[in-house]
Amino acid sequence: MAGRIKKADVVVIGGGAVGTAAAYHLSSRGKKVILCEARNIASGATGRCGGMIVHCYGRDVNIDKTDYRLLFTRANTEIMKEYQKTFEIDFQLRQVGCLDIAISEKEYDDLERLVKIQHSLGDDGIVLLDKKETLSEMPNLNPELIFGSRLRKEDGNLNPFLLARAQAVEAQKLGAQVLLHTKVDEIIMTNNEVQGVRVNDSVIEAENVVNATNGWASLLTEGIEVIPVRELAMVTERLPELPPQPFEMLCLGDFAYGATQTATGNYNLGGPGPARPPDYDYYDEKIYADEVLRVMSYIAVIFPGLSGVSVIRSWVGAMGFTPDGMPSIGPMPGVKGLFITAGYPAGMSWAAVSGRLAAEYICEKQTSLPIGSMDPGRFIGKPKIKWPQPYDLTVCHDFLTEGAIA
Ligand SMILES: Cc1cc2nc3c(=O)[nH]c(=O)nc-3n(C[C@H](O)[C@H](O)[C@H](O)COP(=O)(O)OP(=O)(O)OC[C@H]3O[C@@H](n4cnc5c(N)ncnc54)[C@H](O)[C@@H]3O)c2cc1C
Repeated sequence: MAGRIKKADVVVIGGGAVGTAAAYHLSSRGKKVILCEARNIASGATGRCGGMIVHCYGRDVNIDKTDYRLLFTRANTEIMKEYQKTFEIDFQLRQVGCLDIAISEKEYDDLERLVKIQHSLGDDGIVLLDKKETLSEMPNLNPELIFGSRLRKEDGNLNPFLLARAQAVEAQKLGAQVLLHTKVDEIIMTNNEVQGVRVNDSVIEAENVVNATNGWASLLTEGIEVIPVRELAMVTERLPELPPQPFEMLCLGDFAYGATQTATGNYNLGGPGPARPPDYDYYDEKIYADEVLRVMSYIAVIFPGLSGVSVIRSWVGAMGFTPDGMPSIGPMPGVKGLFITAGYPAGMSWAAVSGRLAAEYICEKQTSLPIGSMDPGRFIGKPKIKWPQPYDLTVCHDFLTEGAIA
């Protein structure tokens, strides 16, 4: 489209679960939408993710934040259930529950305390399980490792490719144009007012732009402090149905491994790569032997029964983190027409609702849920955080060097 000028009401940048959700909800409100995706639909973190739906990830002692997250993640699930009634593509949403597992007495005490607080706030979706109950939910976990867990039955998993594709297809039915292999080089602004985007030497004019590029978002919009973090995943051969609960394991709140059995029976396992030097390229999507071996060794400890199973594929993706762990959702302060929706380390629990919020704000200038605490400008003027690797890997290093792996 060299030299040509296109026009839209809204340009959405990014064709992951979040960008396609924005395109769908904007189109369903009658906006003329053009979605620009640098590669293919779901070619970023979305197509590389485990598909776990975890309504309340993390062990945040800040219970207000936990409560606030639930408001959005539960709305997200409700929207996805609505999708299921009308969407052409089934994205395999399964609410089979998720265990958050404690592997030390201290972690179990922390979980117990958190669950008590959550119950006192009326969150009855969460249950504390002791070791025996945890193992009866998921007998293939290593009994020597487990102290207990908390279980949220409304958690589960979905097929992330199909979610993004389903939203894109429905947006297209409503008139949205999806431009693949179309990298946005610049969001064009005059006097802090959005005019459109530049793609190669062409322009797409629009009064509103949605930056939904997650790990890449800071490259297009300065000041939003979304940091790319590499996360790796691997998938096993198809297995008979293992106990249905996907699991999340966090060591002292900083380090996470997730595993989930997909609708096709493959076990999808993932976690952060090893710590890298501060100047490491976190957009690097190659996967290296040391990181594969590292995840495999943890998996062998956590699921001894999976030791002989073949891993058929492994990969890496860049996901977006913000310094406070919450996504950035809202209008960019001081810029008319720019909406940011980025900073998702667990986007499957946010994508649909974030798309609706972007559409509500752009079309109605108000949102049905309070997004103020996720203001994309909240880090402007604050000291920059240096975090080559936001997960603290020391806990598991200690665990391994204590001889947990034979
Ligand atoms: C290995 C791994 C496992 C994960 N597991 C889970 C999980 O189990 N559950 C969960 O909820 N989350 C998980 N995540 C995180 C999840 O993938 C993300 O939170 C989610 O996909 C974010 O969606 P998104 O649409 O915001 O970002 P993305 O899917 O990354 O989409 C951003 C898109 O923007 C495009 N883009 C970038 N720059 C430009 C540009 N200049 N012009 C045009 N397009 C551009 C990219 O190509 C990309 O397609 C995992 C991530 C990884 C990497």
